[in-house]
Amino acid sequence: MLGTDAIVRAATNDGRADVSDAPLVFAGFGVTAPERGWDDYGDVDVRGKVVVVVEGEPDGDLFNGAYTTHYQSAGYKADEAFRRGAVGLVILAGERGWARARGGADQRILTPGAADLEFIATLDEAGKARLAQAAGVDPARLTGGQDGRFKAFELTGATLTARQSETIDTLVTHNLLARIEGSRRPDEVIVYSAHWDHIGVGGEHAGGEDTIFNGAWDNASGTIGVLEMARELSKAPRPERTIVFAHMAAEEMGLLGAYAYVADPVYPLETTVADINIDMLPLSGPTRDVPIFGKGQNTLEDDLDALARAEGRYVSDDGQPQQGFYYRSDHFPFARAGVPALMPWHGVDFVGGGKEAGWAAWRERFGRVYHQPSDEWSADWDLTSAVENLTLLYRLGLNLANGDEWPTWKPTSEFGQVRARSEAARSSR
Ligand SMILES: [Zn+2]
Repeated sequence: MLGTDAIVRAATNDGRADVSDAPLVFAGFGVTAPERGWDDYGDVDVRGKVVVVVEGEPDGDLFNGAYTTHYQSAGYKADEAFRRGAVGLVILAGERGWARARGGADQRILTPGAADLEFIATLDEAGKARLAQAAGVDPARLTGGQDGRFKAFELTGATLTARQSETIDTLVTHNLLARIEGSRRPDEVIVYSAHWDHIGVGGEHAGGEDTIFNGAWDNASGTIGVLEMARELSKAPRPERTIVFAHMAAEEMGLLGAYAYVADPVYPLETTVADINIDMLPLSGPTRDVPIFGKGQNTLEDDLDALARAEGRYVSDDGQPQQGFYYRSDHFPFARAGVPALMPWHGVDFVGGGKEAGWAAWRERFGRVYHQPSDEWSADWDLTSAVENLTLLYRLGLNLANGDEWPTWKPTSEFGQVRARSEAARSSR
């Protein structure tokens, strides 16, 4: 029953889905990752068909260990199915994926500029069993536990009909861009981004007097970081490349402002050198570490590490693989579009007190204020680490703006494929 053991969402831009008697293909995790020697699709033709996949991605070293990759997301699976000509996607969910699908059942699922399948459906365990029965296959064959040699196969015993019609609310908002135009190569662009929205009004204020989600930390602090960056960089000699300061809208609704930007970019993405995203400045005393989301993705982290080492500091991962942070802020739409992107985070290796004190302080603040009305400015904010990190990001951006480096994705990154398609736009320079 809809909403009970199956969730069906229109994935079209007009909110309507209409698929009749479409053939079904089972494609494992639905992942094609040449850099990892993994291809669930093989040469099976899915044009005009519905692709059935298992949620998640392969475990272990072949992928990214505790840090998941973009391949585990419904967004990636939809993109890949659509790119291959499929009309719909069915995701066989485990308990957690099912809970997530149900929790988001009334929210938007469209990503501007992304897949335009007819529908995306999620089935729970019982739904999977019924599908297997209808198709006449052993449910044990519908798993993602493959070793990389799996090949997609048709579920010839069944077809699928899906109709859905959804209401679309149109919300008008704006990204705000400013720039320092490059003196010699103005069409080569470094972007500093931060989202300016938060989540509105409502909820319980823990010990306060109102229910306004001020978002002082998330992300007024980041917008201030971008403003300060603009102020300081405008005092430096004019750079050779252009520097753009982007305040993105509707991040909290699913990175919508940044997705809208990459779907219709003001500056060409193929000659956008990098995105440096600032979401929630660290609020602590000095730290030795400069954690980043998605360590191991691209060479921006090596440039940042060299700058950090000169200050006796070091770049690390964010230490919270369960959070999937690399996919959760405005740098991600840039990454997905192939632009090398970096998102620094909060140090926990405190100069005073080490990691024990750092993690304790982080957990205390995050638990008390993250996405709550209590995220308010306070006179006792310690901005030392914020200034230290912003100084590194200033140098990183200015070096890129006065050099001719094109940062690249690392060989194991899932985003290198996209960047490679526009290689000619950079190598002809
Ligand atoms: Zn944020």
